[in-house]
Amino acid sequence: MARLPPILDALESFHGRQAASWPTEPYPFLIWWHCGYPASEERCTRGWDSLNAETDIAPEKLLAVPSAKLARALKPGGMIPELRAERLKLIAKRMRSQGDLRAALTELSPQGARALLKKFPGIADPGADRILLFARVAPIAAVPSSCPQVAVRIDSGREADNYAAEYRESQRILESQVAPTFEARARAYLLLLRHGQEVCKRTGPLCDTCSIAKSCAFFSPARGQRTGAPRGRVVARGPTRKNPSS
Ligand code: SF4
Repeated sequence: MARLPPILDALESFHGRQAASWPTEPYPFLIWWHCGYPASEERCTRGWDSLNAETDIAPEKLLAVPSAKLARALKPGGMIPELRAERLKLIAKRMRSQGDLRAALTELSPQGARALLKKFPGIADPGADRILLFARVAPIAAVPSSCPQVAVRIDSGREADNYAAEYRESQRILESQVAPTFEARARAYLLLLRHGQEVCKRTGPLCDTCSIAKSCAFFSPARGQRTGAPRGRVVARGPTRKNPSS
């Protein structure tokens, strides 16, 4: 039985309708992603606002800004602003030779588009999937890289010690239970992200106060508590991912 669809409705009733808080076009996303470190929605957006107050992000404009000035603009986003400034320059250089990134992605298969995006610094499968889904290039079942545990706990009541296995299992659940449309998969991504950030945290999920506890396989309604299901039982179907970064 597909457990996830009614749970997504319940999550939407609880958290409200969600919207992406990041730039959804491929090139601006690549820049936004490096505006914070460690990367998080909040830090990246802080750095992004600061960067945009300093310069236009068009490749030629970014390349014209001195690295030290770029690093200063990125500082509100967190650590290693100098390295992030270098990466912005790298991305801008690649974009200059690449041309229209969206057009290139649209012409490729999802696998080819993913491979192209992974040539940019800091982008692994989760980040590539996220770009392709939110830029409406391919309705891939993207999983929030910071909380793959949510769908797995809800669906199977299990957890995995291995990030790659958990990510693959989460993606399998989304692929099999959420309609392959941009709207449905973006909605699922955003709701799982919000729930994972605020309630179903990676360490110490707040099951006692969770609005969907009674429908979640991880929670035992009879006992009114977490099942404490064993970790390490989730088996990846298909190739595992080595890099949990976006
Ligand atoms: S009941 Fe616990 S494991 Fe299940 S979704 Fe809520 S917080 Fe997560």
